[in-house]
Amino acid sequence: MVTVLDTVSPKPVKPRHPEKAHRPDNPILRKPEWIRVKAPGSPVYNETAKIVRDNGLVTVCEEAGCPNIGECWSKKHATFMIMGEVCTRACAFCNVRTGLPDALDGDEPERVAEATKKLGLEHVVITSVDRDDLDDGGARHFANVIAAIRNTSPKTTIEVLTPDFLRKPGAVEIVVEAQPDVFNHNLETVPSLYLTVRPGARYFHSIRLLQRVKELDPAMFTKSGIMVGLGEERNEVLQLMDDLRVADVDFLTIGQYLQPTRKHHKVDRFVPPEEFKSYETIAYAKGFSLVSASPLTRSSHHAGDDFAKLRAAREKALGASR
Ligand code: SF4
Repeated sequence: MVTVLDTVSPKPVKPRHPEKAHRPDNPILRKPEWIRVKAPGSPVYNETAKIVRDNGLVTVCEEAGCPNIGECWSKKHATFMIMGEVCTRACAFCNVRTGLPDALDGDEPERVAEATKKLGLEHVVITSVDRDDLDDGGARHFANVIAAIRNTSPKTTIEVLTPDFLRKPGAVEIVVEAQPDVFNHNLETVPSLYLTVRPGARYFHSIRLLQRVKELDPAMFTKSGIMVGLGEERNEVLQLMDDLRVADVDFLTIGQYLQPTRKHHKVDRFVPPEEFKSYETIAYAKGFSLVSASPLTRSSHHAGDDFAKLRAAREKALGASR
């Protein structure tokens, strides 16, 4: 018998989302004219890309297929995604790769700090994949990244966009102790859609996490965001705003959900700009210090400018109460 070695056929490519591979296709709707983005590719965009690559970093801008990448990277604004590029959850809206992640890279904090310095960022946003496999959900690694940036760029303000740490005891406390300027944790959607959109998470745990940040440090800015167009009712969004205000959250972002692939959750509808405007007006009336609501709003979009506005809004409120 002769054994034939197949050295020609390409290796089977591992699916990006193995858990979604057998799901039925959801057709991708044509985007309306109000969702138009700048094409990537300016010289500054390429420079940003080079700094990201040279430092071996991962960005959520690329991994999540963010529509704003052309605009943000042309201003040297990238959001770093730490703890690898593989997530232990499998949310129905998210394009980040899922599976079993690698061990943590102990040099990553220094490399993130180095890239922050090279990009000359006045405000940096750090997010991560979910690391349910780690004892602290990755909280200590967040703290190490914050410390490394403080060390090399002491004037840079730092915003973290964290997972829920799977309710691991002490995790939020570790991150708050590291003193980021903004603590962001996204609710992503209304509670009635959690089981289909964000099945690994619990709505009231996320609210509680944000409330806990304020209990630990009342001066720390808190922020949360949702996507609309997933099938939520307007009244549910208004209720969610109230829940966030009870947790004393300062800043709310609302953006249109865009479907990454046919295997992801379908877009129920494209919410028109005037509806975003109406959400914004109501959210301000409910007491948020800052609201960003538009079809292309994303958690980290214009985060630096928004941080300056947030600080100004607090100073104004404190001035009025003196
Ligand atoms: S909005 Fe955020 S995730 Fe999207 S490109 Fe800009 S910085 Fe990156």
